[in-house]
Order: sequence, then structure tokens, then C-alpha cells
Amino acid sequence: SYNLIANPVMGANGVRGAVIVLLDVTEREESEQMRREFTANVSHELKTPLTSISGYAEIIRNGLVKSEDIPRFAGNIYTETQHLITLVEDIIKLSRLDERAVELERAETDLLAIARDVAERLKVPADQGQITIRVSGEPAKVMGVPNILDEMIFNLADNAVKYNKPGGSVQMTAGVQDGHAFIEVADNGIGISEGDRERVFERFYRVDKSRSKQIGGTGLGLSIVKHGAAFHNAHVTLQSEVGRGTTVRITF
Ligand code: ADP
Repeated sequence: SYNLIANPVMGANGVRGAVIVLLDVTEREESEQMRREFTANVSHELKTPLTSISGYAEIIRNGLVKSEDIPRFAGNIYTETQHLITLVEDIIKLSRLDERAVELERAETDLLAIARDVAERLKVPADQGQITIRVSGEPAKVMGVPNILDEMIFNLADNAVKYNKPGGSVQMTAGVQDGHAFIEVADNGIGISEGDRERVFERFYRVDKSRSKQIGGTGLGLSIVKHGAAFHNAHVTLQSEVGRGTTVRITF
């Protein structure tokens, strides 16, 4: 849609013409629409765990729980609280990326070094799921915001571990191709169906809500990857086959 602005041009004998400006506001409207949707989603995502925490607390307060059940209730409250913390952290990361006005300091950063660091941090959950993580390639330097690059690569590797199968593996590769640094994360996990491949980058979109909740997803991980890539003028490609695995590559 367009905004129309008409300004008369005055000459010696009065109005001589007009300047008409057509302002394409489609993009602006879309982003406002997206912001409204985002706020509605955030409220919903925050309310669900809060309602459940409040419910557990209420039952305990009323003395309606047998003492042997209290540890289980406390466990549920703990899990819901952890989920809320991750959610709030992800929302903060995303909104920071949205505020383009904020000048984040860039530095020369090696994607291979980040990949190694991320693999180290994912060792424990990977071991628990019987998943092997390998890192290979060559140093791949980019001028970027180290924190954001770390979050992006972590989210990809974390997904590759979470949506894998016991005995599966994750291969992280960094390098330079045709003068462009890249990082690739490949897994041989559950894969993503064609219809979901575009949608997984949407905020709060999860393929399998119940499974995702169980493994602690917020649905924001890939949105952070997408926005982080846009911030760095990088592009993201995703290839996947159901039951065989997923490969995501960020090219800078
Ligand atoms: P989440 O916090 O749920 O992991 P993401 O935005 O990171 O959120 O991912 C969105 C959804 O995309 C996930 O819930 C999952 O269904 C799917 N997904 C992401 N990465 C993978 C992967 N490597 N393999 C299979 N499915 C994936």
C-alpha cells in the first residue's frame, strides 16, 4: 500500500502544479503487523509457564499435596522457571538485534574458533543423547559481533543435538569458499519436512510443540540465526530430509 503526499508548487500567478509523492509503506505496515503478532505471541508464551507455576504453588499452599509429591511439584516449578529464563533471554537477544540503532562493536572473529568453543559447551547434552560432535575445516575470519556470532552458531549446533537420534552425529565445518567465510552445521537427525522448512525461521514456530517443550525449545533459536545473519549481511541456507538429517550453512 501507498501513502500519497501532494504538495502544490506555487508560481508568480498562483498554483502552477503539484508534486506528488507516493510512499511505499507496505514494508512498514508489515513490520508493524509483525510487531503486533510478536507481542501477542510473547504474552502467550510467558503466560503458559506462569499459569502452571502459579497453579502448582496454589495447590501446595492449600495443603492439597501429599508430602511425598512435593519434590515432583517442585521439579515441575523448576522446569517451568528454567524455560521462562531461556525464553526471556532469547527475547532480549532478538530485540537487541531488532534495534538497529544500537551500535554493537564488531571485531575480527574466527568462525572455526567459535565452532570449537560451542562444541565444547555442548559436550554434556550431546553425551547424554549419545551424539558425537565433530568440528573441522580451516580458520574463517569475519568482521562481526562475537556475541551474536556465538549465539547463532550455538543455536544451530544445539538444534543439531536436540533434534537428533541416539547414536547420531553433528558435523560443524568452517572455511572460506569463493572468498566468503562460512560455517556449516550438519546433523543426521530427524530432519524437517518441506512444508516446515520455511516456517522454522519464524518466531515461536516449532514443528512438534509437545516434543519441543519437553526438550526445552523456545521456538526463537532460528529467528535469532536469521536476524543475526541479516545483521551481518550473511545468508542462511537450509537443506533437510525427513529422517535423514539437516544441514544449515551461513555464508558471510
Ligand atoms: P527451538 O527452540 O524450538 O529449537 P528453533 O527456532 O531453534 O526453536 O527451531 C524451530 C523448530 O525447527 C524446532 O522446534 C524444530 O522443530 C525445528 N528444527 C530446528 N533445527 C532442527 C534440526 N537440526 N533438525 C530437525 N528439526 C529442527
